[in-house]
Amino acid sequence: MSGLKLGAHMSIAGGVSNALDAAEAVHSNAVQVFMKSNRQWSGPKVSEDDVSRWNEQMPSRGVGFAVSHASYLINLASPKDDLWEKSVAAFADELQRAHAYGIGHVVLHPGAHTGSGEEAGLQRIADALNRIHAQLPECADVVTLLELMAGQGTTLGYTFAQLAQIIALVEVKERVGVCLDTCHALAAGYDFRTEKGYEAMMAEIEETVGIDSVGCWHFNDSANDHGSRKDRHAHIGEGFVGAEGFRHILNDIRWDGVPMLLETPKKEDGDGKDLMNLRALAALVVDADRLPEGLRPE
Ligand SMILES: [Zn+2]
Ligand SMILES: [Zn+2]
Repeated sequence: MSGLKLGAHMSIAGGVSNALDAAEAVHSNAVQVFMKSNRQWSGPKVSEDDVSRWNEQMPSRGVGFAVSHASYLINLASPKDDLWEKSVAAFADELQRAHAYGIGHVVLHPGAHTGSGEEAGLQRIADALNRIHAQLPECADVVTLLELMAGQGTTLGYTFAQLAQIIALVEVKERVGVCLDTCHALAAGYDFRTEKGYEAMMAEIEETVGIDSVGCWHFNDSANDHGSRKDRHAHIGEGFVGAEGFRHILNDIRWDGVPMLLETPKKEDGDGKDLMNLRALAALVVDADRLPEGLRPE
């Protein structure tokens, strides 16, 4: 049975595999991790011990799906050659790290053109991916998920059509997909809070990237309203997406098996807020059998 895959972005302090313990603690069956510090260009060598622990613990802790998120520093759309080269190397490293752990999906912010224009930026992203794909045939088992962005500044990838445009320029299509983010979608101008609006968004997804290309969702409420183009996450139900927006996605069985991962603010003293947010999502699901066991209502 596929059902819903729910989880959160978890800390990798002390080792990437520690995120699995955190995922189990909140009864989730999916997890997102960074493969190394997300604000640094390079990281420590992959620990073979941690890879073994990861592979042992993933099934035993009931986590069926893991995705990694690439460093925020990477900008594959940059018109500056030095930053672009550095970004290409850093993203290749992200794919190799995911491959080492057997993680099949890496979420990537497509990038910002910083003045060179949208068309140039989109081409630059595809050029980078084509080069990395040619360089790393062994990483063909890792799919890059281009994230839908809120559209702040010169950030690219804030429409489904733009994500489809990048994919069209990538030579090996099986190596790319998309990650949708509820906060970013609302901020970018998609209003899925009404039934009609949700169906319109789904129709647009089908016509552009296709539902099958969606490798995961980021489930975040938005501190800013529809069309704000600002990226600030809020707890589930406490922002402008609200319960209704999540209800449509959660009860649409077309998303069965596609992980929905929280990136909502954490409490300093642990993951109490993740459980709160997961329970808030679970409460919106009509067919409780689709939920991970530990999140089913009593
Ligand atoms: Zn992201
Ligand atoms: Zn965001």
